[in-house]
Amino acid sequence: MGRRGIMLVVSSPSGAGKTTLTRNLIETEERITLSVSVTTRARRASEIEGVHYHFISMRQFEIMRDSGQLLEWAEVHGNCYGTPREAVETALSEGRDVLFDIDWQGTRQLFETMRKDVVSVFVLPPSAAELKARLERRAEDSEEIIVKRLRNAAEEIAHWSEYDYVLVNRDLDKSFLRLRSILTAERLKRVHGTDMDGFVGSLLDELKALAP
Ligand code: 5GP
Repeated sequence: MGRRGIMLVVSSPSGAGKTTLTRNLIETEERITLSVSVTTRARRASEIEGVHYHFISMRQFEIMRDSGQLLEWAEVHGNCYGTPREAVETALSEGRDVLFDIDWQGTRQLFETMRKDVVSVFVLPPSAAELKARLERRAEDSEEIIVKRLRNAAEEIAHWSEYDYVLVNRDLDKSFLRLRSILTAERLKRVHGTDMDGFVGSLLDELKALAP
């Protein structure tokens, strides 16, 4: 029997470095794909349809949500976001891991429905000032939206202790190594129900033959 994939969930307030960390992980690791969410928010200039998000209307979102096509969904910063179910279930059953960049509300829903598959990581910024500076450097949002995102950061951070792992992102390279270590360790943990059972069975047979 093949191995079932892991659902690796990474949450953080906007600007804590989560997008860079998750992008690096996808580029470096094999056998892991990013879950592309649907959203009703407007596309930013740097974003590509189908890569960063599927940008859809509120009407399309409601149809997907009401017909059970979303694994989880939430309203964040006044827009709706959701995880399309089908792509995730296909990947997991084929033994591929799936990376999710979703908020605490979505993580909670995945915990409720798929706890055994989920490994969750929360990324904290090193300080409030650094978080603000990162949002300003990105320069893609208006001042009004940045203030809104800072207010929402406090709400998001309040849920840090619900996660399996917490990283304080002081140094991107170090945080990335830690995130990779989490994935490696969790992959090694999930050996039951895989080819390992057969391997250990043969090993025991061989030992019995050597020392009856
Ligand atoms: P942004 O608009 O900056 O891309 O994302 C805003 C927030 O929405 C981020 O915290 C991100 O993790 C979260 N988010 C993105 N996609 C989803 C999703 O499919 N479900 C949930 N629950 N949150 C999401």
